[in-house]
Amino acid sequence: MKTIGIIGGMSWESTATYYRLLNEGVKEALGGLHSARILLYSFDFDDIEKLQAADDWDESAARLSDAAKGLQQGGADLLIIATNTMHRVADEVAAAIDIPLLHIADASGRRLAADGIKKAGLLGTRFTMEQDFYRKRLADNFGIELLIPPDEERGTVHKMIYEELCRGIISDDSRQQCLQIIEALAEAGAEAMVLGCTELPLLVQPRHTPFRLYDTTAIHAQEAVAAALKKT
Ligand code: GLU
Repeated sequence: MKTIGIIGGMSWESTATYYRLLNEGVKEALGGLHSARILLYSFDFDDIEKLQAADDWDESAARLSDAAKGLQQGGADLLIIATNTMHRVADEVAAAIDIPLLHIADASGRRLAADGIKKAGLLGTRFTMEQDFYRKRLADNFGIELLIPPDEERGTVHKMIYEELCRGIISDDSRQQCLQIIEALAEAGAEAMVLGCTELPLLVQPRHTPFRLYDTTAIHAQEAVAAALKKT
């Protein structure tokens, strides 16, 4: 089994989910007392959030690249960045290391494409919804169009992520707001919904909506388990 390097702590609420899912995935595949081989670099999210808010993606790239190099030196065979937003600097991080980086948007795109989805809604931070690094990648690599909510609703979801979900606050009111935004995207033509923030599945799960959800945390973790168990 290969060792999975995780760059996490962004926030730790979702890194905890990754840790559980990776271990559950290996246990399911290998049985018995098996669990995942993991190296984790966990950031203080306050530092990262300040860099995001300052639009300092160069410094963000440098810090994540240093973490990635440390994980590689420590023995990681492959790497995941446990947040959609920080894939803004995924190319720089991938260039800093020799081990493969499993990109969360590619993992999600592969799953959507396999299910024949051509147009989906995207919820995440403003960075993920508004910048090129996510939507363009799915369009270019998989021919999938991602619809985003209007500006005010984007602000609502963004605020919910930083002020509630990344602080461990799960609110019924916010869930209802999120579900309304999802319904509006469905009416606008989305065939499915990409939960493109690794904390969003803490708030919205399939039992809350009949609408088809793509949980990027779970999809990413499943790909990491498959890669770790692949015999090459
Ligand atoms: N974990 C979130 C994501 O998947 C948001 C926090 C962050 O900015 O990294 O985008």
